[in-house]
Amino acid sequence: SSALQAAQAAQSLNVFLHIDPALTFAQADEADSLLAAGAKAAPLAGIPIAHKDLFVTQGWRSTAASKMLAGYVSPFDATVVSRLREAGAVSLGKLNCDEFAMGSGNENSAFGPVRNPWDHDAVPGGSSGGSAAAVAAGLVMAATGTDTGGSVRQPAALCGVSGIKPTYGTVSRFGMIAYGSSLDQAGPLARHARDLLELLDPMSGFDPRDATSLETCDGQTNAPGRIRAQFQAQAERCQQAGSQPLKGLRIGVPAEFFGPGLAPDVASAIEAALASFEAMGAERVGISLPRTELAIPTYYVIAPAEASSNLSRYDGVRYGHRAAQYGDVAEMTSRSRTEGFGSEVLRRIMVGTYVLSHGYYDAYYLQAQRVRRMIVNDFQQAFAHQCDVIMGPVTPTVAKRIGENREDPVADWLADIYTLGVSLAGLPAMSLPCGFGGESGRLPIGLQVIGNYFSEGKLLALADCFQ
Ligand code: GLN
Repeated sequence: SSALQAAQAAQSLNVFLHIDPALTFAQADEADSLLAAGAKAAPLAGIPIAHKDLFVTQGWRSTAASKMLAGYVSPFDATVVSRLREAGAVSLGKLNCDEFAMGSGNENSAFGPVRNPWDHDAVPGGSSGGSAAAVAAGLVMAATGTDTGGSVRQPAALCGVSGIKPTYGTVSRFGMIAYGSSLDQAGPLARHARDLLELLDPMSGFDPRDATSLETCDGQTNAPGRIRAQFQAQAERCQQAGSQPLKGLRIGVPAEFFGPGLAPDVASAIEAALASFEAMGAERVGISLPRTELAIPTYYVIAPAEASSNLSRYDGVRYGHRAAQYGDVAEMTSRSRTEGFGSEVLRRIMVGTYVLSHGYYDAYYLQAQRVRRMIVNDFQQAFAHQCDVIMGPVTPTVAKRIGENREDPVADWLADIYTLGVSLAGLPAMSLPCGFGGESGRLPIGLQVIGNYFSEGKLLALADCFQ
């Protein structure tokens, strides 16, 4: 209950969209009985967490931070939610985010922006901004997030916490409100890599209710326990290596991640992090990801295309907002959408329907799919011949001020340059706090660590060495 009080006290951050003490206490009782029955079955028993409002939850409202779903209560829990509950975690409520996870600063929420706990005038990053801010402010031990093009990694970086997006298909998307289905993956945010492991391992695993959920990963079964076993194996290897725990690890550093747009404070924090990996015995290898810049237009064609299809379910008929006044059915739908969706969501739907429309499909959507394949190949070339992991920045700058990009939505899109390629390729990647910058010198900076498919446990173990 003290955690719940702190959560209620932190309302100035605008982190929580829905807190319901009765529901939280019911989960705490459940965790108690799990503990009484034997602690092994409930590794997270009593641990306070909270869910991004993109996961549907029985009891708590699920809004995706949209007016469209303002009063919506789901009849079921997302798989991520039920699995964490079965592991004993206790949810304090639902966390603010960008509307339908579209954004990079948590400024696109219909319920107001989230504030960065390090500087209340700065954005927390997005779209999982409420998740990152809740962890950074110490309100929860960990939070769930979703990452379509960087939404776990980027807010983790800007709020000075850790976050991981697993390989696409590792965690079930069932009950995760859809944005770009071929990109969406859930991932946890927490202070340390070890905490991420405690959440990600039980969250992961095949789910027959998600058609893109994987049954096997590279010959291993996609089930809870896989990521933990991989973590332990890597941690043991590091331990045996003594004073050079990372000896033999080849770190690929892409030249394109250190181009003109990178702020000097971020560049030097990344340099310092790389130097400490080298001090642990890792070897640094210069690599090239030549399609890095192309990831931006490619993603901003594919993600809106998928969004325009996914969001067509909000038609004012089945559920969600319905306009009070309308003539015919077509007008009911168009009015409901105009009233229910914010401007960024409408922008994405328009871009998406345009690139999918007859006459433009080949030029935009199909072309983007071709470039996506090339981006996948660039990463695979690097992993096959040059390096074991790839490291670089998460964001080109520290957190912006709230409202800074209000007149220029595309500026936010450009700042996604280092995270989008990973999402298009479906690779696992994490963000680790690695320093501070900005004018005050008090805004956090994140290091991105990218691995090959199904290397989550290894990434977390490397992160644990660094932390
Ligand atoms: N900033 C990107 C976007 O707006 C990524 C968001 C996300 O990963 N959900 O689409």
